[in-house]
Amino acid sequence: MFLSRLVYFSRPTSIGDADIDRILGSCYANNHINNVTGALFYDGGWFIQVLEGARSTLSKLFVTIAMDDRHTDVNLMEFAFVRQRMFSDWTMRYIGGGAEQERIVRKYMPGCFDPNMFTESALAVQLLRELADAAEREVELA
Ligand code: FAD
Repeated sequence: MFLSRLVYFSRPTSIGDADIDRILGSCYANNHINNVTGALFYDGGWFIQVLEGARSTLSKLFVTIAMDDRHTDVNLMEFAFVRQRMFSDWTMRYIGGGAEQERIVRKYMPGCFDPNMFTESALAVQLLRELADAAEREVELA
């Protein structure tokens, strides 16, 4: 298997919490079967998603995701071979908005948050990893 990581960002269309639940339902059901791991950030204005798995699996999944009308302006940031997964614990770690998330995002981008401003995809991956860890801590404390 050629282990790969794919990173993209996009703009949600007019969607609500029920749509997010359905998207996550697909993630949890399909990604486990396909040995895909990753994280999905959603702050109301943007999606950023990191997907890890076999290159052929991610190619097909990305085509499906890119055509999904629950988001638009899909921008592929990275699709590269990697030696190991960074999100191996999660079929899809969901990262929603919140005070702690906001604080972490500001660290990476002090002004108005816009993923177009990321000069390298590694920064977006690092941000999602930090946000995923914070989300995990919140779950443990709850
Ligand atoms: P289906 O049987 O086609 O549908 C599953 C559920 O999703 C149903 O409840 C259905 O009503 C709903 N649904 C499907 N398409 C739409 C639509 N266009 N509008 C409203 N509801 C819809 N899928 C993954 O498998 N893994 C991922 O990591 C993943 N990440 C995503 C990230 C984003 C930002 C978005 C927008 C979608 C993502 N999806 C992901 C969903 C993907 O685009 C497909 O909808 C899904 O893979 C289809 O899976 P299925 O054939 O099992 O589901």
